[in-house]
Amino acid sequence: MKIRIHKIITGSCANGPGIRNVVWFQGCTLSCPGCFNPQTHDPKGGRALSVKALCDQLLSPEAPCDGITISGGEPFQQAEALQKLLAEIKTRSALPVLIFSGYTYDHLKSSAVCSGCLPFTDVLICGSYDRNIPPDHDRFCSSGNQELVLLSDYYTKKDFKNLPLGEYFLDNQGKIIISGINP
Ligand code: SF4
Repeated sequence: MKIRIHKIITGSCANGPGIRNVVWFQGCTLSCPGCFNPQTHDPKGGRALSVKALCDQLLSPEAPCDGITISGGEPFQQAEALQKLLAEIKTRSALPVLIFSGYTYDHLKSSAVCSGCLPFTDVLICGSYDRNIPPDHDRFCSSGNQELVLLSDYYTKKDFKNLPLGEYFLDNQGKIIISGINP
């Protein structure tokens, strides 16, 4: 099974607690006004990778990390493949997984296909981005209406307080990449 992705970075300090390897899924139809990742919206954009190839990159021994972050785009719009990726991460590592989603927790719980991903997820930061609501840096939310949901006991809410909000990377083509919830 393949997953359409926008980008992968390793060694991120601004996508959750500690050092994290991050994948942005490609494709999102939610159209939150003010979204700062519009280049991830086109479901035909980005590139397709097998679940195994993506997992190999996220868990590369050359890029040790404290956790995996899955962002987008909207990860749950590829929920079947997402579930397979999560299961593979959890089979091959003990790393915690944080997922950013534009859907509410209630929506994810009530959808048969999305709820299948939740047993493999440690933390959700979810709900649509609203540029009119200030960020909540105590909960690592880019707008204060979003929810921080702990689905395992790996983290406490304190772990999400006052984290770095943004960072800059140079990709392998020399392009500057801006990352984080409020760069
Ligand atoms: S869910 Fe995320 S990627 Fe999709 S429009 Fe909203 S902020 Fe943008």
